[in-house]
Amino acid sequence: MSALNPELEAVARELEAALGPEILAQARYQLRVRITQFFLDLILPVLWALLWLPTGWAVRLRDAFHANDSWWGTWLVLLVFLAAEALLNLPLAWYFDFRVENRLGTNRQSLGGWLWDQVKQSAVNILLQSLLFLGVYTIFRLWPERWFWGISGLVVVFLALMYLLQPLLLRLQYKAEPLDDPELDARLKALFAKVGVPYAGVAVIKAGEKTSRGNAALIPKGAGTQVVLFDTLIEAVDAEGVEVVVAHELGHKVHRDMAKLMALLGVALILALAVAYGVLRSVGTWDGLQGPGDVATYPVLALILAWLSAGLQVLLNIYSRRIERAADQFALDTTGRPEVFERVMLVLAKQNKALPLPPAWVEFFFYNHPSLARRVLAARQWRGRATASSAQG
Ligand SMILES: [Zn+2]
Repeated sequence: MSALNPELEAVARELEAALGPEILAQARYQLRVRITQFFLDLILPVLWALLWLPTGWAVRLRDAFHANDSWWGTWLVLLVFLAAEALLNLPLAWYFDFRVENRLGTNRQSLGGWLWDQVKQSAVNILLQSLLFLGVYTIFRLWPERWFWGISGLVVVFLALMYLLQPLLLRLQYKAEPLDDPELDARLKALFAKVGVPYAGVAVIKAGEKTSRGNAALIPKGAGTQVVLFDTLIEAVDAEGVEVVVAHELGHKVHRDMAKLMALLGVALILALAVAYGVLRSVGTWDGLQGPGDVATYPVLALILAWLSAGLQVLLNIYSRRIERAADQFALDTTGRPEVFERVMLVLAKQNKALPLPPAWVEFFFYNHPSLARRVLAARQWRGRATASSAQG
């Protein structure tokens, strides 16, 4: 595999030397952990289904609350399923979110602080998921023949809600403050003007008290678009670097990637629920279960959705790498600074423990961004093209 692209290999070796052995070891460790996590996400739903169904507990829980007779009974049972799952998953959450982050040296939280964040996030997740599945079961029950349109409407409402709640969910985890840097503010304002996106200022996320990882995003604010910057990123790169990062995010905005991704997710979720409906109709009367509208089938529904979304993740990753490449090109075209782009890529790789060039199959299945070496090589090729065209003309 490696002999296929010597140019890429050379860039990878150069980046590995720049990152150093400690970060490379951390990056390999992180990658192993993420792959393990992917397979655990496939196995755990099987275990939950085995815990609830052959034991008859799911059916007994349903009967105890007469759960299929009222919306609140259905909701209550869903809350029990989801809360039990969150509780049983807590040791794994501790391992993957706290212990692993400690070993990587990226965690800056105490165990107590981490636990409190976990409680808050779980509460919000349980609430949102329970409402989604309450809708799903209500629709399956009310319209056993015409559920498809009901489910489609529900998915649209749910995704719109998730999109609108995004800033709120971020604020739940991190404090934010306005940017205290007029020079950077002016620079970003000019960048927005250049690409024709209305500028709504910068919010600095105080992530540094919890993590050393860096990140940036754009969120809608009023009629404009607000830049969200992790303080960890601002500390690690200069104003030119921040500009390149924001230019990449603006690439997503201008290409309407968020809307396209939401549409894809919506179609995928509708199809997954349609498949789940078919499966529940055939297995849903087994062992005391009463068909697709029976909330006691939830562990099966969760299992089907987990498996389908794992398969789908791989497909979405292919698409995601493509839009990330396009956003990188946009950032280079807009700023014209490939050397700054390369410098920022290296800083982010250090912060987030990225491996310059993972094995090709790993990148194919698990990476939602092109690997560091591919992104840096693309920037160098951009510079090559820019030099050639300026020499010509
Ligand atoms: Zn991106």
